[in-house]
Amino acid sequence: SLSDRLTGTFKNLRGKGRLTESDINSTIRDIRLALIDADVATPVVREFTGRVRQRALGAEVSGALNPGQQVVKIVNDELIQILGGETRRLNMAKTGPTVIMLAGLQGSGKTTFAGKLARLLRDQGHFPVLVAADLQRPNAVRQLEVVADRAGVPCFAPERGNEGGHDAVTETGEGTRSFGDPVWVAQAGVGQAKVRQYDVVIVDTAGRLAVDEALMDQARNIRDAIQPDEVLFVIDAMIGQAAIETALAFSKGVDFTGVVLSKLDGDARGGAALSVASVTGKPIMYSSIGEQVKDIEVFHPDRMASRILDMGDVLTLIEQAEKAFDKRQAAEMQRKFMAEEDFTFDDFLQQMSAVRKMGNLKSILGMMPGMANMRDQLASLDEKEFDRVEAMVRSMTPFERTHPKQINGSRRARIAGGSGVTVSEVNQLLERFGQAQKMMRQLRRGGGMPGMPGMPG
Ligand code: GDP
Ligand code: MG
Repeated sequence: SLSDRLTGTFKNLRGKGRLTESDINSTIRDIRLALIDADVATPVVREFTGRVRQRALGAEVSGALNPGQQVVKIVNDELIQILGGETRRLNMAKTGPTVIMLAGLQGSGKTTFAGKLARLLRDQGHFPVLVAADLQRPNAVRQLEVVADRAGVPCFAPERGNEGGHDAVTETGEGTRSFGDPVWVAQAGVGQAKVRQYDVVIVDTAGRLAVDEALMDQARNIRDAIQPDEVLFVIDAMIGQAAIETALAFSKGVDFTGVVLSKLDGDARGGAALSVASVTGKPIMYSSIGEQVKDIEVFHPDRMASRILDMGDVLTLIEQAEKAFDKRQAAEMQRKFMAEEDFTFDDFLQQMSAVRKMGNLKSILGMMPGMANMRDQLASLDEKEFDRVEAMVRSMTPFERTHPKQINGSRRARIAGGSGVTVSEVNQLLERFGQAQKMMRQLRRGGGMPGMPGMPG
């Protein structure tokens, strides 16, 4: 089974070349089923697995993971990236109130979300106000007022004689005239917010049960009238295959800036997130997770990725395996150091890939024997140089990696040819490497290692 196949970890410390096509295919099959099960739209599944396959085919086998796990890791990374990588925050206006417009189909959860977002912002110290620009359904204005009340924020709605009791957008009398014009109401609401110095205006709009031109025109007209800082497209996580069509229609119709995924408290595994993000490229910013005003979360791409994959255990396992592997490598490094074994190009490669994996050059290099001294040199290398250095080391034979001094002229030429660099670049690398080795020996003689945990200093 998938989990059996993914559970075992490789015990060997070194990798074994590239992932094979059959390793990849069998795992991709399972991934495809997981995505379909999560209700990711079919064309998105196809495109996505194709991309993952490409990436996996080029991937080096990690010593920490078995091939199945490694493909899952690639899938997870790719999912997180498509889902937006880092969480994107609201784009706040530099002057005047920040205007946020909500758009989406009827029943998608806009009105409910308006209250949640208002409450969230209020709790952060903002002064939000809701504007009722959904005049389509008889009850929509009243619903927003109730929502505003629960959120503890005011609501601007068109005046309807004396029955309202809410803040009218207009002077009494004018209201009747304007009641039917959502564009005007939205604009007047934003104007009121400005006058009364609210700093966030959330404009609720009407939806239809299916995308239609009149709806889109209205949303576009509202957008043009109020020039929002954000247009948030609210989509029901249960929408399934229709996600693509709906998202594309709203993307084209109102050109939204961010996505809200609602009703994630239900059974939906969240495949709509991947569908929407991959066809529109727009970030998902919030999740709506219930009917109450507190049921809102800032969207976390990594959590959504594991929800879509539904392989939480496997992902945890992968993380643990990688951590254990890193620890083992560090221990091995320390043992070598104590045993006065020379630092080899294999060690170098491992450290480089650890560095690249973890990103933070300076702190990591500071923890590695010998590398602290190369830290400044290495920190100034850019990614491309990293690629070149890595290519050179990979073009070395196992013998050369452990016996750098034996790399003579013809070997240097071969390495240069194999990695697409000049011989002088190979010379430079060997030179720098020789210096690092020398420094390690000196340090060893001199006693403690700077920044080496557990070493007498
Ligand atoms: P709108 O037509 O887009 O304004 O949608 P509403 O905000 O009126 O929501 C439609 C229905 O979905 C209402 O019954 C809401 O209570 C419900 N709803 C909205 N968001 C959520 C959610 O995150 N979870 C659940 N379970 N229900 C929700
Ligand atoms: Mg509504």
